[in-house]
Parts: sequence; C-alpha cells; structure tokens
Amino acid sequence: MSGEASYRARSVKGMRDLLPPETAVWNAVEATAREVFGRYGFEEIRTPVVEETELFVRGVGGATDIVGKEMYTFADKKGKSLTLRPENTAPVARAYAQHQLASRPQPLRLYYIGPQFRYERPQKGRYRQFYQIGAEILGDEGPWTDAEVVVMLVRFLEALGFEDLDVLINTVGDRESRERYRERLVGFLSPLADELGEDSRRRLDTNPLRILDTKSPREIELLADAPRLRDSLNDASRAHFDEFCSALGACDVSFRLDDRLVRGLDYYTRTVFEIQSGRLGAQSALVGGGRYDGLVEEVGGPPTPGIGFAIGLDRLVECLPERSELTVTTRPSFAVVRLGEVSMLDAIGLSEELRLDGLEVIAELSGSLRSALRRADRRGSAYAILFGDDELAAGKLTVKRFEDGYQIEVRREGAAQALRDALGLENPS
Ligand code: AMP
Repeated sequence: MSGEASYRARSVKGMRDLLPPETAVWNAVEATAREVFGRYGFEEIRTPVVEETELFVRGVGGATDIVGKEMYTFADKKGKSLTLRPENTAPVARAYAQHQLASRPQPLRLYYIGPQFRYERPQKGRYRQFYQIGAEILGDEGPWTDAEVVVMLVRFLEALGFEDLDVLINTVGDRESRERYRERLVGFLSPLADELGEDSRRRLDTNPLRILDTKSPREIELLADAPRLRDSLNDASRAHFDEFCSALGACDVSFRLDDRLVRGLDYYTRTVFEIQSGRLGAQSALVGGGRYDGLVEEVGGPPTPGIGFAIGLDRLVECLPERSELTVTTRPSFAVVRLGEVSMLDAIGLSEELRLDGLEVIAELSGSLRSALRRADRRGSAYAILFGDDELAAGKLTVKRFEDGYQIEVRREGAAQALRDALGLENPS
C-alpha cells in the first residue's frame, strides 16, 4: 500500500445520500402513505428503475415535457436504448398491460414509492435522482374515482400535519374536447408566437396546453384573452367534471376551480388537480395529478381509464409541518456498558438476550466506561445498563437514566421484563 489514494469518492452530481436521522423522517412519511392508502384499498406495485426508452417517448414527437432534455437515456451493451424512469405512471401502465391486470377485479388501486431520474440542472430542491410517492386507479372512468384519489391524497397530507391545503382542480376535457380546444388555442397563439418565450414557442407545436401554466408575466398577460378550455367541453366532459366536484363535496373536501391548471404531462384527459400548501409559497405545488384515459392503450394494453398523482418526496419532507412528531421513537433505547472487568462475552450475551426480548439495545463495549457512557449519551440512548463483576455475582444489573441520572437495580434473570416493570415501559405488542 503506497498510502497515496488519489481517488476521493463522491456521489454523482444531482444525486444525494439520505442520512440518518433524516431517513427516519422519510420512513415515517412512507409509513403514513402505506397506512392511509391501505385504508382506501390501494396495494403496492414496484416496477424496475430501467425501462425501454420507447415507453417514455411515445406518440407524435414524444410530446411529454420530460422527454428530450431531461431523460437519463443510455445504450446497454447490446446497443438497446434504455432510460432510467423519469416518472412512474407510464411504467405502471406498462405493467398493467403486460400482466393482463385488466382481468383482475376492476378498478385496480395501486401505489408506488421509489426513485425517479431526470437529468435536470441541479438546484435547490431539484435532484437528478429524486423520489416520488404516487397512486393510480386503473379501470374505472367514473368521476367518483377521481374524487377518491383526490380525497385520499388530502387525507394523506392531513395525516402528515398539513392544514393549509389548497386543492385546485380543472378539466382538460376528453380527447374530442381537448382536440377542439387545442386547435382554438393554437389559432389564438400562433399570430402571437413572436411574443412568446422560447419554451412556449416550442410547446406551440408539441404541447400547446402546457403554455397555459406559464410563469412568465408577459405570457400570462397575453393569455388573458385566450379561449377558455371550459367553453370547448362537450356535454359528457362537462357532466364528468360536475360529478367529480359533487363527489369531493360529499367527502367534505373543499376545492377551487382553476382555469389555467393543465399540468405538464400531455397524456392527461378530463380531471387535473394540484394541491398547494401555504408553506411553500404561492403557486408552488406540493403534488399534482390527473386522469389519463389513453395511456394504457398507448403502451399496448386494452383501452383503460386511469387516474393518479405523484408527490415529490424530497420536497414534501423538506416542508413537513410536524417533523419532530413524526419521528418520535416509541421505544427508549438501552446501551449496555461494561463496568470493570466483566467479560466481553457476558456483555454481548446480555445485549442479545434483551434484543430478543424486544428491547432496542446498543452494546457500547469498547474503550473505558467513561467513553462508552459518553458515546451512548451522544447517540441519544435513554438508559445505560451498567454490567460489572459485582452485578454478575449478585445476579443484578444497574440501570441509569441519562436524562436525570436516576439509577436503580433490577434482577439479571428475566432482565427485559424486570426493566419494563421498573421503568414503567410498555410490553411489546
Ligand atoms: P411531475 O412528474 O413533473 O408532475 O412531478 C411530480 C412531483 O415530483 C413534483 O411535485 C415535484 O415535487 C417532484 N419532482 C419532479 N422533478 C423533481 C426533481 N428533479 N427533484 C425533486 N423533485 C422533483
């Protein structure tokens, strides 16, 4: 060994490590999602991180906004084009088609939790590997399914402690209404193309509806006189939207109509929604979603209606109102430390016995008693179990509470239960 290591390993740009104790917050959020979604009968799906590139580049010009500049696309060793998934709805639709999930009782309620990848310019809150929690209902086009998804999402956010939620909804109509509107909008905007920004000019060809949610003040001004999507709706689309609104009302979820809400992905039909939180500042969406009745068919499955949402977990965790409450550990943790010359093996054996009986135990066995106690205290252990020759001989353990120095003795035999009784701890359920 020369000792001249020249390689200093670093995580890839835009990709970060999630470290403890932050991971405890993530786990708590994910556990809340599983719990709330479970109550609505949703089941988990896990799709691969890598998919064939075609899955994300479909239809005319691959018009999803993610496509092009933001995808992690590479050739595998045989030259096949693969892509790290930039979102999870298309993979879920692919799985639905591939595994004939239409033959199961419909609709299917699925959720996913996992990493997504976009080659974005890294900036605060934007990562190249980021995480989403999402849910989809496939196989039912009734407006009550739209409501079920939105209501569940609201309940999830409430369970995380959000109180100031603003539910924005809109409809982009069914295909027919949308096509009609698309033509009208392009007709309105084309003469103004020179005044549009570069992104919007590009979208005029690829995804004109997306121009509606521009953040540019100049474009917002131009759009003031644009035809309204709601005026292009056919009767069926209008009725669907009205019933969706009524169903939200029946579940006591308040909402606002927002004409300009169209969401980024081009596969949305009919319902679109977004939930904002005062915590993030105006116009900053916590989560969005919508109906995508054409998607499963586009990836080779039977015509299947679908509706869903995706929440950016990185952002969500950052702006959680009740971080501390979410991560309170219910079990106090113990540190076994050696007093004097008690054997390492006795201390290890004791630690393992307590764990098997359901306690959280760290064996702080190295170094002096003082250093072991200091480490345990810094780690946040609640109690030290002092185990020495005297204790061994007397069949006892000395327990010290870090918080206030309170100290007692408990019997060695059946120590876990003795600790619970002496410290007033609950038995594991
Ligand atoms: P989208 O699929 O673009 O509608 O995004 C859904 C959610 O994913 C948004 O609410 C964002 O919070 C989150 N998101 C999208 N891209 C990123 C990124 N690069 N880094 C972190 N979060 C992201």
